[in-house]
This record gives sequence, structure tokens and C-alpha cells, in this order.
Amino acid sequence: MTTQVTFSAAFDAHDTPDHPENADRTAVMVDELSLSPLSADVEMVSPEILPERLLYEVHSAEMIERVKEASVAGSWIDLDTYVSKGDDATARLAAGAVLQLCETVMQGRAQNAYALVRPPGHHASGERSMGFCLFNNAALAAHALSKQGKRVLLFDHDVHHGNGTQSIFYSRRDVMYMSFHLWPHYPGTGSVQEIGEGAGQGYTVNAPLGPGMGDEAVRLLCDEVFVPVARQFKPDIIIVSAGYDSHHSDPLGGLRLTADFFGEMIKSLQGVQPRVVCTLEGGYNLSWIGKCFLSQLGMLVGRPQPVEDQAVGTGNVHPLIVDIKKALSSYWRF
Ligand SMILES: [Zn+2]
Repeated sequence: MTTQVTFSAAFDAHDTPDHPENADRTAVMVDELSLSPLSADVEMVSPEILPERLLYEVHSAEMIERVKEASVAGSWIDLDTYVSKGDDATARLAAGAVLQLCETVMQGRAQNAYALVRPPGHHASGERSMGFCLFNNAALAAHALSKQGKRVLLFDHDVHHGNGTQSIFYSRRDVMYMSFHLWPHYPGTGSVQEIGEGAGQGYTVNAPLGPGMGDEAVRLLCDEVFVPVARQFKPDIIIVSAGYDSHHSDPLGGLRLTADFFGEMIKSLQGVQPRVVCTLEGGYNLSWIGKCFLSQLGMLVGRPQPVEDQAVGTGNVHPLIVDIKKALSSYWRF
């Protein structure tokens, strides 16, 4: 069985060179892959655009119209979030790529997959593009899979909380959202007490980490919280919002994960459900994001690619783990 990777030069049309979220990001990742032995192990596929009707099932008509209007000549949605000319199609292509890979994996035509897409998506809520994100790629794919009766786990390891993804599924139990993230930090959401509402209570899991926390803290969180809850949820597929700004050298970050640890997280998730599809979110250190990407791809392919990279995390994660278990104890066994 194969690992599929999707990328298209069409994503480069979404670009503002002096903005941290620019086309150089995927350029270095594609370069890194081409130089790696893994390039012989993966199947490259061209992305397919998301059917427009699906956009309207997750995002409001006003939000979609705003992106379309800004895409005519290029504009800004807010101080952080730019729209390049033609981005209504580019952003739909990014979302379509994630769904396409998920469907291929669900059909058993690939074991797992990686969507090397831009613009990213996890800050986009049902009603608002923000935080460098226009449409929510992971959420659109998860929603479409859910309509097919699949249980979807969204695991978000970006340094920023995926407020958009969380809000879209906050009152639903067909899609579970899990995130660890730096706290306090942009966008300000993701407290332990945010566990979902109504039918979705217990189906949102947040781990806000203090500055400087690293591999050891997140490893404990995975072992004691994320993996046990995920096993009980029994997902049919796991979509990973793969943000590499949680790496220790990221200019927009503040956590201290090492490159190898990104692969280690994939391995933990594969133990829950081998159908894993990653979609690129943040990550802004051009010297490291390619290595973090290959660490995860190596684990997807089954050929780990360790690199020399060390960082010492600080802080004690145990009190947080106690708090999270307490917040979720009515819903899951620990
Ligand atoms: Zn981020």
C-alpha cells in the first residue's frame, strides 16, 4: 500500500513575499522531499478542487462571498490575512486536495497521505476567514466524510489553537477535535474547559501548554490523554492539522518540539487508526519545516528519517493532565 502526497504549483498563486505564510514554505518542503529517499516511496497526485456546494455546508454565504470579492484583484481580509488574485479557486483547491486524499485512503487505494497545501485552514470558522486561513481545509474534509457516515478525529499540533476547526464541530459528536497549543497565544481560545457543548460535550479536547514545553510534555499528554480518548472514540480516519510552528526554532512559536517528535506523534496516532491524512497548517522556519515534514512522511511511509535536532523543554505538564482528565471524566475513561 502506498502513501500519497498531493501538491500543485497552483498553490503558489497564494503569495505575499514579505508575509510569513508565503509560497517559499512549500517550496522548501518540496525541495526537501525531492532530495530524500522517500521521494521514491510516495505517489504524487494532482489535487482536485472541492465541489462548491460543500463550501456552503461549512461556511456562511457571506464569508464565501467576501473571499470571492477579495479574489478579483487581491486584498486583505484582516491585518494578518491576505487574499491573492484567484484565491477563491486556490483555497478551494487546497480543501479539495485534503478531501480527495481522505477518500482515497477510505477506499483503501492508499494507506495514508499528506496534503501539502496552502493557504492553511484551521483558524477559519464557519463565518470568518482569519489567521492566514481562508477556508477550513481539514474541517471541510471532515464534514464531507461525516456525511458518508465516517467518524473523524482531527488532531491539531500547530502551536496556535485551531479555533476555527473547534467552533465548526463544537456541538457535534461525529467529529472529534484534539489540540495542544501554546497558551496564552493567538487566537486566545483552547482552554481546558472548552470541551464542546450540547451533543458535542466531551468531543473537544484542549491542552494549553506553557511557553517552552517540549517533546516530553507532549509525549505524556499523548500517552495519558490524547491516545486513550482517541481509542475510545474509535475514529475511521484521523486528519492531522500539521503545523510545524510548534518546533523549537519557529519565529511565531514558543514551544520546543524537535523535528523527530513530529514523526513520533504520527506513530502514536497510527496505533489508534492507521488511516492518517496530514494537511499542512503553519510552520515558518524555512530551515526546519522541511525536516519536520519528512519526519512525518517517513513515519507514514514506514521508513523513519531521524535528524540531528535537540531541544530541552521546560515546565511541568502533570497539573495540566490532571485538569484535562477532570474536565473530561464524565465522557471518557482514564
Ligand atoms: Zn500556527
